[in-house]
Amino acid sequence: MPVVAYKKMTLNVRHVQARRIDCEFCRQPFTYLTDDTESVGVTGVPVMSSDDRMRKSATKKAEKALERHANAAERGEAICPRCRRYQPWMVKSSLTTNLGCGGCCGLLVVGGVGGLASAAMHWFDSPTTGFTVMGVGGLLIGLAIGKAIALKSGRQDSGEERSMTDDEFRALVKGSMDRDEDPVSSWFFDVADEPPADHAFVSLGYLDLVDPPLPLPEWKA
Ligand SMILES: [Zn+2]
Repeated sequence: MPVVAYKKMTLNVRHVQARRIDCEFCRQPFTYLTDDTESVGVTGVPVMSSDDRMRKSATKKAEKALERHANAAERGEAICPRCRRYQPWMVKSSLTTNLGCGGCCGLLVVGGVGGLASAAMHWFDSPTTGFTVMGVGGLLIGLAIGKAIALKSGRQDSGEERSMTDDEFRALVKGSMDRDEDPVSSWFFDVADEPPADHAFVSLGYLDLVDPPLPLPEWKA
């Protein structure tokens, strides 16, 4: 049987965006910074697929994903610069993600490793009991860790560098434009580490979700 070796190409993109929303607690608008990494992979057959064509296909995939992120209604997490709280949807989304990851990791890792160990050491009457006990234990530990590291809803002591009032954001835009820089990228490099060398960097610009929108001079991201 012929063996077909596939080649893979992965494109990593660190993308940033500034978003303006109304705080659900103090009812004041503010702008916050979001950043995330999108990794897209393409697989090709060595003789058939040129690197160029694979790169193009990966780029197209990444562009579609970035467009989705740029226009998503609720994304990212940052505290309100006035009342210093996370929005309820940020807390909820963080809890869902962390409970999901924690629970799965606990169940699979503790359940798997613990189940194998208990079977080898004969800790329980049968291997099935061992896997069940370890799995449930792992799930509970994972859920507890997930809950502990998820965002909390109360007033926060830190994290204010990722959110700005309208006046602060307007000043940032003006300053960056005077230096001919993209304001969102300037903000990101001010508060975050440079992305790894193998990551492309893309600014998704600014999305104003408040009515009425904040009047700002236009800039090219
Ligand atoms: Zn607020």
